[in-house]
Amino acid sequence: TMYRAAPGRYEEMAFRRCGRSGLKLPAISLGLWQNFGGLDSYETGRAILHRAFDRGVTHFDLANNYGPPPGAAEEMFGRVLASDFKPYRDEMIVSSKAGYLMWPGPYGEWGSRKYLLSSLDASLKRLGLDYVDIYYHHRPDPETPIEESMGALADAVHQGKALYVGISNYRAADAKRAIDTLKALGVPCLIHQPNYSMLDRWIETDGLLDVLEEGGAGTIVYSPLQQGLLTDKYLDGIPEGSRAARGSRGGSMGAEGVSDARLAKVKALAPIAARLGLPLAHLALKWVLRDPRVTSALIGARTVAQLDDSLDALKGNGLSDSDLHEIEKALST
Ligand code: NDP
Repeated sequence: TMYRAAPGRYEEMAFRRCGRSGLKLPAISLGLWQNFGGLDSYETGRAILHRAFDRGVTHFDLANNYGPPPGAAEEMFGRVLASDFKPYRDEMIVSSKAGYLMWPGPYGEWGSRKYLLSSLDASLKRLGLDYVDIYYHHRPDPETPIEESMGALADAVHQGKALYVGISNYRAADAKRAIDTLKALGVPCLIHQPNYSMLDRWIETDGLLDVLEEGGAGTIVYSPLQQGLLTDKYLDGIPEGSRAARGSRGGSMGAEGVSDARLAKVKALAPIAARLGLPLAHLALKWVLRDPRVTSALIGARTVAQLDDSLDALKGNGLSDSDLHEIEKALST
């Protein structure tokens, strides 16, 4: 069946400026880390992508290694681009990354120029694109000089293979060095992609948000639902079909992620969500978006219904100071 984007697709989405750049991102973006690989249904994934774009999700986040197998998510997205999304390419922000293991040998991971530039070429081929909108260094490399990794990102821009560049999983001090290095190379760091949720708040204590604000970079926070833990579904045990039930794939959460300590916090949050008349997922998403420095919440979805539910978190009011206070109390249990 032929895809035509919904005419009303921009009516409800909120867009936030990414740092001090000219680029705006949707308040909720969709990632293809899980559920869009070779073991997943192509038609389900395709339906999720259609629905996302129809509801104003203009940003799709990928990486070289997403699958499994590695590369499969980019191939899947490339297929949807070719068959359905081609007329809308200029309405979309497609990102990719390199940093984790992609192919054997010393040039298949981390942060050398050799790896970052050859991986980008391979990603573009799988995606069927001439350029990605954002190209990330996926994790800091303790051995490669930052000038080399950032130099490779800057050259990707100069070669026309990426419009913007970013970093992911860098702690505050390394992020500052990356931002300063890119600035000296004449290519601003558009964005940082760290994990952030009510159950994992390292970016607050590390000072990362302050570094990014000062450096003019935006922030897109991944796993804001803590891989599904911050929904109502784990309250009575691990449900069938869930990520935790399925077991770890490419570093995803297995049953061990559903720990008693985390569940205690989730259980303390549930009555707050109930009082506000919200599913827990909405509370979790409204919470990460309460800070205007968070440009976008980067979610995953296994079904269209999950995606719809998560996007509905943008409806209604933000959280009040007293809601936030109650959440702090619940999280300290
Ligand atoms: P989330 O925290 O949003 O978790 C998504 C998972 O939660 C879904 O796959 C589903 O899992 C469950 N879920 C989602 N919505 C609902 C809902 N409304 N009700 C009930 N369950 C729901 O994010 P992810 O961990 O998937 O990460 C999102 C994206 O972030 C990735 O695709 C990737 O782009 C990026 N990322 C980046 C990383 C990096 O190192 N830069 C690392 C990790 C992610 P289930 O199968 O259990 O139903």
